[in-house]
Amino acid sequence: MSIPAETDVLVVGAGPAGSAAAAWAARSGAEVMLADAAVFPRDKTCGDGLTPRAIGELQRLGLEDWLRAHAVNQGLRAHGFGQTLLLPWPGGTLPDWGSAVARTELDDHLRTTAIKSGATALDAHRAVDVRREGDRVTAVVFRVATGSTTELREVRCRRLVVADGVRSPLGKVLGREWHRETVYGVAGRSYLTSGRSDDPWISSHLELRDEHDTIISGYGWIFPLGNGEVNLGVGTLATSKRPTDLAVKPLMAHYADQRREEFQLSGDLRMSTSALLPMGGAVSHVAGRNWALIGDAAACVNPLNGEGIDYGLESGRLLVELMAEHDDLSETWPALLRDHYGESFSIARRLAGLVTVPRLLPALGPAGMRSDWLMTLALRWMGNLITDEDRDRAARVWRWAGRRSLARDHRPPFA
Ligand SMILES: Cc1cc2nc3c(=O)[nH]c(=O)nc-3n(C[C@H](O)[C@H](O)[C@H](O)COP(=O)(O)OP(=O)(O)OC[C@H]3O[C@@H](n4cnc5c(N)ncnc54)[C@H](O)[C@@H]3O)c2cc1C
Repeated sequence: MSIPAETDVLVVGAGPAGSAAAAWAARSGAEVMLADAAVFPRDKTCGDGLTPRAIGELQRLGLEDWLRAHAVNQGLRAHGFGQTLLLPWPGGTLPDWGSAVARTELDDHLRTTAIKSGATALDAHRAVDVRREGDRVTAVVFRVATGSTTELREVRCRRLVVADGVRSPLGKVLGREWHRETVYGVAGRSYLTSGRSDDPWISSHLELRDEHDTIISGYGWIFPLGNGEVNLGVGTLATSKRPTDLAVKPLMAHYADQRREEFQLSGDLRMSTSALLPMGGAVSHVAGRNWALIGDAAACVNPLNGEGIDYGLESGRLLVELMAEHDDLSETWPALLRDHYGESFSIARRLAGLVTVPRLLPALGPAGMRSDWLMTLALRWMGNLITDEDRDRAARVWRWAGRRSLARDHRPPFA
Protein backbone atom coordinates (compact mmCIF):
# COMPACT_ATOMS: atom_id res chain seq x y z
CA MET A 1 0.00 0.00 0.00
CA SER A 2 1.43 3.39 -0.84
CA ILE A 3 0.48 6.33 1.34
CA PRO A 4 1.45 9.93 0.72
CA ALA A 5 4.53 10.71 2.77
CA GLU A 6 3.66 14.33 3.50
CA THR A 7 0.68 16.54 4.25
CA ASP A 8 -0.15 20.01 5.47
CA VAL A 9 -2.51 19.03 8.34
CA LEU A 10 -2.23 15.56 9.86
CA VAL A 11 -5.14 14.59 12.14
CA VAL A 12 -4.60 11.56 14.38
CA GLY A 13 -7.87 10.00 15.55
CA ALA A 14 -11.09 9.93 13.52
CA GLY A 15 -13.68 10.26 16.28
CA PRO A 16 -16.02 13.30 16.26
CA ALA A 17 -13.19 15.68 17.21
CA GLY A 18 -10.72 14.48 14.58
CA SER A 19 -13.26 14.12 11.79
CA ALA A 20 -14.68 17.60 12.47
CA ALA A 21 -11.18 19.10 12.45
CA ALA A 22 -10.31 17.24 9.24
CA ALA A 23 -13.53 18.33 7.53
CA TRP A 24 -13.08 22.00 8.49
CA ALA A 25 -9.37 22.01 7.58
CA ALA A 26 -10.07 20.41 4.19
CA ARG A 27 -12.91 22.86 3.53
CA SER A 28 -10.52 25.72 4.26
CA GLY A 29 -8.36 24.47 1.40
CA ALA A 30 -5.62 22.64 3.33
CA GLU A 31 -4.23 19.26 2.34
CA VAL A 32 -5.40 16.94 5.13
CA MET A 33 -4.77 13.37 6.23
CA LEU A 34 -7.03 11.73 8.82
CA ALA A 35 -5.42 8.68 10.41
CA ASP A 36 -6.94 6.20 12.85
CA ALA A 37 -5.70 3.04 14.51
CA ALA A 38 -9.06 1.36 13.83
CA VAL A 39 -10.72 0.23 10.62
CA PHE A 40 -14.10 1.94 10.19
CA PRO A 41 -16.90 1.49 10.95
CA ARG A 42 -15.78 0.95 14.55
CA ASP A 43 -17.60 1.06 17.89
CA LYS A 44 -16.91 3.57 20.67
CA THR A 45 -18.18 3.22 24.26
CA CYS A 46 -20.69 6.05 24.57
CA GLY A 47 -24.26 6.95 25.50
CA ASP A 48 -24.74 8.12 21.89
CA GLY A 49 -26.61 11.22 23.14
CA LEU A 50 -26.44 14.37 21.01
CA THR A 51 -27.30 17.45 23.03
CA PRO A 52 -28.43 20.72 21.38
CA ARG A 53 -24.79 21.86 21.47
CA ALA A 54 -23.81 18.85 19.36
CA ILE A 55 -26.79 19.39 17.05
CA GLY A 56 -25.60 22.98 16.45
CA GLU A 57 -22.15 21.72 15.39
CA LEU A 58 -23.60 19.00 13.16
CA GLN A 59 -25.86 21.61 11.53
CA ARG A 60 -22.77 23.73 10.84
CA LEU A 61 -21.19 20.72 9.14
CA GLY A 62 -24.31 20.43 6.94
CA LEU A 63 -25.63 17.22 8.52
CA GLU A 64 -29.07 18.33 9.74
CA ASP A 65 -31.07 16.37 7.14
CA TRP A 66 -29.08 13.21 7.85
CA LEU A 67 -29.59 13.71 11.58
CA ARG A 68 -33.33 14.32 11.31
CA ALA A 69 -33.69 10.88 9.70
CA HIS A 70 -32.56 9.47 13.08
CA ALA A 71 -34.04 9.75 16.57
CA VAL A 72 -35.11 13.28 17.42
CA ASN A 73 -35.84 14.17 21.05
CA GLN A 74 -37.31 17.23 22.71
CA GLY A 75 -35.70 17.08 26.13
CA LEU A 76 -34.92 15.16 29.28
CA ARG A 77 -37.28 13.13 31.40
CA ALA A 78 -35.67 13.17 34.85
CA HIS A 79 -36.73 10.40 37.25
CA GLY A 80 -35.92 10.02 40.91
CA PHE A 81 -36.94 10.39 44.54
CA GLY A 82 -40.60 9.73 43.71
CA GLN A 83 -40.78 12.37 40.95
CA THR A 84 -40.73 12.42 37.15
CA LEU A 85 -40.09 15.75 35.46
CA LEU A 86 -40.24 16.59 31.76
CA LEU A 87 -37.56 19.18 31.02
CA PRO A 88 -37.66 20.42 27.40
CA TRP A 89 -34.38 21.54 25.81
CA PRO A 90 -34.32 25.26 26.52
CA GLY A 91 -33.59 26.46 22.94
CA GLY A 92 -32.48 30.11 22.94
CA THR A 93 -29.26 30.50 21.00
CA LEU A 94 -28.88 26.70 20.67
CA PRO A 95 -31.22 24.31 18.79
CA ASP A 96 -34.26 23.16 20.79
CA TRP A 97 -33.89 19.50 19.91
CA GLY A 98 -31.52 16.63 20.55
CA SER A 99 -30.80 13.24 19.04
CA ALA A 100 -29.06 9.93 19.66
CA VAL A 101 -27.18 7.96 17.01
CA ALA A 102 -25.11 4.83 17.68
CA ARG A 103 -21.46 5.82 17.49
CA THR A 104 -20.64 3.05 15.02
CA GLU A 105 -22.87 4.91 12.56
CA LEU A 106 -22.26 8.52 13.67
CA ASP A 107 -18.46 8.31 13.61
CA ASP A 108 -18.44 6.51 10.27
CA HIS A 109 -20.65 9.23 8.81
CA LEU A 110 -18.51 12.02 10.26
CA ARG A 111 -15.35 10.42 8.88
CA THR A 112 -17.04 10.09 5.47
CA THR A 113 -18.00 13.77 5.72
CA ALA A 114 -14.31 14.62 6.27
CA ILE A 115 -13.33 12.48 3.26
CA LYS A 116 -16.00 14.12 1.09
CA SER A 117 -14.67 17.49 2.23
CA GLY A 118 -11.29 16.51 0.78
CA ALA A 119 -9.37 14.71 3.55
CA THR A 120 -7.43 11.50 2.82
CA ALA A 121 -8.24 8.75 5.35
CA LEU A 122 -5.66 6.28 6.64
CA ASP A 123 -7.22 3.26 8.39
CA ALA A 124 -5.33 0.88 10.69
CA HIS A 125 -2.60 3.48 11.28
CA ARG A 126 -1.63 3.54 14.94
CA ALA A 127 0.44 6.60 15.83
CA VAL A 128 3.31 5.57 18.08
CA ASP A 129 5.86 8.36 17.97
CA VAL A 130 6.75 11.75 16.53
CA ARG A 131 9.81 13.25 14.89
CA ARG A 132 10.79 16.77 15.92
CA GLU A 133 13.01 19.57 14.75
CA GLY A 134 13.47 22.17 17.46
CA ASP A 135 10.05 22.89 18.94
CA ARG A 136 8.13 21.66 15.87
CA VAL A 137 6.75 18.20 15.19
CA THR A 138 7.83 17.31 11.66
CA ALA A 139 6.40 13.79 11.29
CA VAL A 140 4.31 11.13 13.00
CA VAL A 141 5.44 7.51 13.09
CA PHE A 142 2.65 4.96 12.54
CA ARG A 143 2.57 1.24 13.15
CA VAL A 144 0.65 -0.27 10.27
CA ALA A 145 -0.54 -3.88 10.13
CA THR A 146 0.43 -5.52 6.85
CA GLY A 147 -0.84 -9.10 6.73
CA SER A 148 0.66 -11.01 9.66
CA THR A 149 3.39 -8.45 10.33
CA THR A 150 3.50 -4.78 11.18
CA GLU A 151 5.72 -2.07 9.82
CA LEU A 152 6.56 1.49 10.77
CA ARG A 153 5.73 4.34 8.41
CA GLU A 154 6.28 8.06 8.75
CA VAL A 155 4.02 10.85 7.55
CA ARG A 156 5.55 14.32 7.54
CA CYS A 157 3.27 17.21 8.41
CA ARG A 158 3.32 20.96 8.78
CA ARG A 159 0.67 20.92 11.52
CA LEU A 160 -0.53 18.10 13.75
CA VAL A 161 -3.98 17.71 15.34
CA VAL A 162 -4.10 15.10 18.10
CA ALA A 163 -7.63 13.70 18.54
CA ASP A 164 -6.77 10.24 19.84
CA GLY A 165 -9.33 10.10 22.63
CA VAL A 166 -9.44 9.48 26.32
CA ARG A 167 -6.03 7.81 26.76
CA SER A 168 -4.37 9.94 24.10
CA PRO A 169 -1.27 7.79 23.49
CA LEU A 170 0.18 10.31 21.04
CA GLY A 171 -0.67 13.15 23.41
CA LYS A 172 1.37 11.35 26.07
CA VAL A 173 4.37 11.17 23.73
CA LEU A 174 4.01 14.95 23.40
CA GLY A 175 3.85 15.47 27.18
CA ARG A 176 0.08 15.47 27.85
CA GLU A 177 -0.69 14.82 31.53
CA TRP A 178 -4.11 13.88 32.97
CA HIS A 179 -4.77 15.14 36.53
CA ARG A 180 -6.98 12.68 38.35
CA GLU A 181 -7.27 14.77 41.49
CA THR A 182 -9.89 16.60 39.41
CA VAL A 183 -13.18 14.78 39.03
CA TYR A 184 -13.39 12.13 36.29
CA GLY A 185 -16.11 9.80 35.07
CA VAL A 186 -16.46 6.02 35.18
CA ALA A 187 -19.28 4.87 32.95
CA GLY A 188 -20.66 1.96 30.96
CA ARG A 189 -23.18 1.52 28.19
CA SER A 190 -25.10 -1.28 26.50
CA TYR A 191 -27.83 -1.74 23.88
CA LEU A 192 -31.25 -3.26 24.49
CA THR A 193 -34.32 -3.89 22.39
CA SER A 194 -37.14 -1.62 23.54
CA GLY A 195 -40.78 -0.99 22.69
CA ARG A 196 -40.05 2.66 23.51
CA SER A 197 -37.22 3.20 21.05
CA ASP A 198 -39.22 6.07 19.47
CA ASP A 199 -39.80 7.89 22.78
CA PRO A 200 -39.32 11.65 22.06
CA TRP A 201 -37.62 12.14 25.47
CA ILE A 202 -34.28 10.87 26.72
CA SER A 203 -34.50 9.53 30.26
CA SER A 204 -32.18 9.93 33.20
CA HIS A 205 -32.53 8.25 36.59
CA LEU A 206 -30.92 10.41 39.22
CA GLU A 207 -31.76 7.95 41.99
CA LEU A 208 -29.58 5.01 41.06
CA ARG A 209 -29.68 2.03 43.43
CA ASP A 210 -27.49 -1.06 43.60
CA GLU A 211 -28.71 -4.60 44.35
CA HIS A 212 -28.63 -3.81 48.11
CA ASP A 213 -30.97 -0.87 47.45
CA THR A 214 -28.22 1.59 48.42
CA ILE A 215 -28.18 4.90 46.53
CA ILE A 216 -25.12 5.28 44.31
CA SER A 217 -23.55 8.69 43.56
CA GLY A 218 -24.25 8.57 39.88
CA TYR A 219 -27.04 8.25 37.39
CA GLY A 220 -28.52 5.91 34.83
CA TRP A 221 -29.70 6.82 31.35
CA ILE A 222 -31.93 5.38 28.67
CA PHE A 223 -31.51 7.08 25.29
CA PRO A 224 -33.97 6.00 22.55
CA LEU A 225 -32.25 5.37 19.21
CA GLY A 226 -35.38 5.14 17.04
CA ASN A 227 -34.20 1.84 15.53
CA GLY A 228 -35.94 -0.57 17.92
CA GLU A 229 -33.17 -0.20 20.50
CA VAL A 230 -32.15 2.07 23.35
CA ASN A 231 -28.70 2.92 24.67
CA LEU A 232 -28.77 2.11 28.39
CA GLY A 233 -25.92 3.03 30.70
CA VAL A 234 -24.77 4.11 34.13
CA GLY A 235 -22.11 6.56 35.19
CA THR A 236 -20.48 7.79 38.34
CA LEU A 237 -17.85 10.34 39.29
CA ALA A 238 -14.57 9.85 41.13
CA THR A 239 -11.33 11.59 42.08
CA SER A 240 -7.94 10.17 43.06
CA LYS A 241 -8.92 11.06 46.67
CA ARG A 242 -12.31 9.38 46.36
CA PRO A 243 -11.85 6.59 43.81
CA THR A 244 -14.86 4.47 42.96
CA ASP A 245 -15.05 0.71 43.38
CA LEU A 246 -18.23 0.60 41.35
CA ALA A 247 -18.71 -2.60 39.34
CA VAL A 248 -20.15 -0.88 36.27
CA LYS A 249 -21.39 -3.87 34.24
CA PRO A 250 -23.31 -5.61 37.07
CA LEU A 251 -24.85 -2.24 38.04
CA MET A 252 -25.91 -1.69 34.44
CA ALA A 253 -27.58 -5.14 34.36
CA HIS A 254 -29.35 -4.39 37.65
CA TYR A 255 -30.50 -0.98 36.40
CA ALA A 256 -31.86 -2.59 33.21
CA ASP A 257 -33.78 -5.17 35.25
CA GLN A 258 -35.35 -2.41 37.34
CA ARG A 259 -36.53 -0.55 34.21
CA ARG A 260 -37.50 -3.54 32.05
CA GLU A 261 -41.26 -3.20 32.37
CA GLU A 262 -41.54 0.59 32.20
CA PHE A 263 -39.27 0.90 29.15
CA GLN A 264 -40.47 -2.33 27.51
CA LEU A 265 -36.94 -3.69 27.44
CA SER A 266 -36.42 -7.21 26.15
CA GLY A 267 -33.56 -9.65 25.66
CA ASP A 268 -30.02 -9.43 27.00
CA LEU A 269 -27.78 -6.40 27.20
CA ARG A 270 -25.74 -6.17 23.99
CA MET A 271 -22.21 -4.83 23.69
CA SER A 272 -21.76 -3.92 27.37
CA THR A 273 -18.57 -1.91 27.74
CA SER A 274 -17.21 0.62 30.20
CA ALA A 275 -14.60 3.37 30.14
CA LEU A 276 -13.00 6.21 32.10
CA LEU A 277 -13.59 9.82 31.14
CA PRO A 278 -11.21 12.71 31.83
CA MET A 279 -13.32 15.83 32.25
CA GLY A 280 -13.36 19.58 32.56
CA GLY A 281 -10.02 20.26 30.89
CA ALA A 282 -8.10 18.34 33.57
CA VAL A 283 -5.02 17.89 31.39
CA SER A 284 -1.85 19.90 30.85
CA HIS A 285 0.37 20.30 27.78
CA VAL A 286 -2.49 20.57 25.30
CA ALA A 287 -0.40 22.29 22.63
CA GLY A 288 3.06 22.95 21.24
CA ARG A 289 4.37 25.15 18.46
CA ASN A 290 2.59 23.36 15.57
CA TRP A 291 0.44 20.75 17.32
CA ALA A 292 -2.64 20.73 19.55
CA LEU A 293 -4.92 18.33 21.40
CA ILE A 294 -8.69 18.39 20.89
CA GLY A 295 -11.76 16.47 22.15
CA ASP A 296 -11.24 13.84 24.87
CA ALA A 297 -7.47 14.08 24.42
CA ALA A 298 -7.80 17.62 25.86
CA ALA A 299 -10.44 16.45 28.42
CA CYS A 300 -13.10 18.52 26.69
CA VAL A 301 -15.94 16.74 28.48
CA ASN A 302 -18.70 18.28 30.59
CA PRO A 303 -18.08 17.17 34.21
CA LEU A 304 -21.78 17.35 35.07
CA ASN A 305 -23.15 14.98 32.46
CA GLY A 306 -20.21 13.30 30.71
CA GLU A 307 -21.06 14.64 27.25
CA GLY A 308 -18.09 15.18 25.01
CA ILE A 309 -19.26 14.67 21.42
CA ASP A 310 -20.32 18.31 21.26
CA TYR A 311 -17.06 19.63 22.69
CA GLY A 312 -15.12 17.30 20.40
CA LEU A 313 -16.89 18.69 17.32
CA GLU A 314 -16.59 22.24 18.61
CA SER A 315 -12.91 22.03 19.57
CA GLY A 316 -12.11 20.58 16.12
CA ARG A 317 -13.71 23.59 14.45
CA LEU A 318 -12.20 26.12 16.85
CA LEU A 319 -8.68 24.75 16.35
CA VAL A 320 -8.94 24.99 12.56
CA GLU A 321 -10.16 28.60 12.89
CA LEU A 322 -7.22 29.36 15.18
CA MET A 323 -4.69 27.69 12.87
CA ALA A 324 -5.82 29.97 10.05
CA GLU A 325 -4.65 32.96 12.09
CA HIS A 326 -1.75 31.73 14.21
CA ASP A 327 1.35 29.77 13.35
CA ASP A 328 2.36 29.18 16.97
CA LEU A 329 -0.27 27.22 18.93
CA SER A 330 1.67 26.69 22.16
CA GLU A 331 0.05 29.58 24.06
CA THR A 332 -2.86 30.48 21.81
CA TRP A 333 -4.63 27.10 21.92
CA PRO A 334 -4.76 26.67 25.74
CA ALA A 335 -5.78 30.34 25.99
CA LEU A 336 -8.63 29.83 23.53
CA LEU A 337 -9.79 26.66 25.31
CA ARG A 338 -9.78 28.49 28.64
CA ASP A 339 -11.62 31.39 27.11
CA HIS A 340 -14.37 29.14 25.71
CA TYR A 341 -14.65 26.50 28.43
CA GLY A 342 -12.63 27.70 31.44
CA GLU A 343 -15.44 29.22 33.50
CA SER A 344 -18.08 26.58 32.79
CA PHE A 345 -15.67 23.65 33.24
CA SER A 346 -14.29 25.14 36.45
CA ILE A 347 -17.66 25.54 38.17
CA ALA A 348 -19.01 22.29 36.70
CA ARG A 349 -16.11 20.20 37.96
CA ARG A 350 -16.34 21.87 41.38
CA LEU A 351 -20.03 20.91 41.59
CA ALA A 352 -19.36 17.45 40.16
CA GLY A 353 -16.69 16.93 42.83
CA LEU A 354 -19.42 17.40 45.45
CA VAL A 355 -21.30 14.42 44.02
CA THR A 356 -18.34 12.23 45.01
CA VAL A 357 -18.93 13.17 48.68
CA PRO A 358 -20.74 10.20 50.25
CA ARG A 359 -24.38 10.76 51.23
CA LEU A 360 -24.62 14.23 49.67
CA LEU A 361 -26.72 13.14 46.69
CA PRO A 362 -29.28 11.19 48.78
CA ALA A 363 -29.54 14.24 51.05
CA LEU A 364 -30.01 16.90 48.36
CA GLY A 365 -31.62 14.88 45.53
CA PRO A 366 -35.18 14.72 46.89
CA ALA A 367 -35.35 18.50 47.49
CA GLY A 368 -34.03 19.23 44.00
CA MET A 369 -36.44 16.85 42.31
CA ARG A 370 -39.41 18.46 44.07
CA SER A 371 -38.81 21.71 42.20
CA ASP A 372 -39.61 21.96 38.47
CA TRP A 373 -37.95 25.36 38.40
CA LEU A 374 -34.74 24.13 40.05
CA MET A 375 -34.50 21.12 37.75
CA THR A 376 -35.06 23.24 34.63
CA LEU A 377 -32.24 25.46 35.82
CA ALA A 378 -30.12 22.40 36.64
CA LEU A 379 -30.69 20.95 33.15
CA ARG A 380 -29.51 24.17 31.57
CA TRP A 381 -26.48 24.41 33.84
CA MET A 382 -25.64 20.71 33.82
CA GLY A 383 -25.80 20.60 30.04
CA ASN A 384 -23.93 23.91 29.75
CA LEU A 385 -26.76 24.94 27.45
CA ILE A 386 -25.61 28.52 27.73
CA THR A 387 -23.69 30.46 25.12
CA ASP A 388 -21.81 33.76 25.30
CA GLU A 389 -24.78 35.41 23.57
CA ASP A 390 -27.27 34.39 26.32
CA ARG A 391 -28.07 37.37 28.53
CA ASP A 392 -30.84 36.02 30.78
CA ARG A 393 -30.51 35.72 34.55
CA ALA A 394 -29.68 31.99 34.65
CA ALA A 395 -26.88 32.55 32.12
CA ARG A 396 -25.52 35.53 34.04
CA VAL A 397 -25.51 33.63 37.36
CA TRP A 398 -23.75 30.65 35.73
CA ARG A 399 -21.06 32.89 34.25
CA TRP A 400 -20.60 34.78 37.52
CA ALA A 401 -20.18 31.49 39.43
CA GLY A 402 -17.79 30.28 36.72
CA ARG A 403 -15.61 33.38 37.00
CA ARG A 404 -15.42 33.08 40.80
CA SER A 405 -14.63 29.40 40.60
CA LEU A 406 -11.90 29.91 37.99
CA ALA A 407 -10.28 32.63 40.08
CA ARG A 408 -10.01 30.14 42.97
CA ASP A 409 -8.74 27.17 40.96
CA HIS A 410 -5.49 25.74 42.20
CA ARG A 411 -5.02 24.31 38.70
CA PRO A 412 -7.30 25.99 36.14
CA PRO A 413 -8.63 23.95 33.20
CA PHE A 414 -5.99 23.14 30.53
CA ALA A 415 -3.11 24.28 32.76
C1 LIG B 1 -19.92 5.34 28.83
C2 LIG B 1 -19.78 6.67 28.15
C3 LIG B 1 -20.92 7.35 27.77
C4 LIG B 1 -20.84 8.58 27.10
N1 LIG B 1 -21.99 9.18 26.69
C5 LIG B 1 -21.93 10.32 25.98
C6 LIG B 1 -23.12 10.89 25.45
O1 LIG B 1 -24.21 10.34 25.56
N2 LIG B 1 -23.01 12.07 24.77
C7 LIG B 1 -21.80 12.69 24.59
O2 LIG B 1 -21.77 13.78 23.99
N3 LIG B 1 -20.66 12.14 25.06
C8 LIG B 1 -20.68 10.96 25.73
N4 LIG B 1 -19.52 10.39 26.18
C9 LIG B 1 -18.24 11.03 25.87
C10 LIG B 1 -17.86 10.82 24.38
O3 LIG B 1 -17.89 9.45 24.09
C11 LIG B 1 -16.48 11.40 24.09
O4 LIG B 1 -16.38 12.65 24.68
C12 LIG B 1 -16.23 11.51 22.58
O5 LIG B 1 -16.16 10.25 21.98
C13 LIG B 1 -14.93 12.27 22.31
O6 LIG B 1 -14.61 12.22 20.93
P1 LIG B 1 -13.09 12.22 20.45
O7 LIG B 1 -13.14 12.34 18.96
O8 LIG B 1 -12.29 13.17 21.23
O9 LIG B 1 -12.51 10.77 20.85
P2 LIG B 1 -12.93 9.33 20.37
O10 LIG B 1 -14.32 9.31 19.93
O11 LIG B 1 -12.53 8.39 21.45
O12 LIG B 1 -12.01 9.06 19.10
C14 LIG B 1 -10.64 8.84 19.24
C15 LIG B 1 -10.12 8.06 18.03
O13 LIG B 1 -8.70 7.97 18.11
C16 LIG B 1 -8.30 6.70 17.68
N5 LIG B 1 -6.98 6.44 18.26
C17 LIG B 1 -6.67 6.20 19.54
N6 LIG B 1 -5.32 6.02 19.67
C18 LIG B 1 -4.81 6.17 18.44
C19 LIG B 1 -3.47 6.09 17.92
N7 LIG B 1 -2.41 5.85 18.71
N8 LIG B 1 -3.29 6.29 16.59
C20 LIG B 1 -4.34 6.54 15.77
N9 LIG B 1 -5.61 6.61 16.21
C21 LIG B 1 -5.83 6.43 17.53
C22 LIG B 1 -9.38 5.77 18.17
O14 LIG B 1 -9.41 4.57 17.39
C23 LIG B 1 -10.63 6.62 17.97
O15 LIG B 1 -11.24 6.38 16.72
C24 LIG B 1 -19.57 9.16 26.85
C25 LIG B 1 -18.41 8.48 27.25
C26 LIG B 1 -18.50 7.25 27.88
C27 LIG B 1 -17.25 6.52 28.28
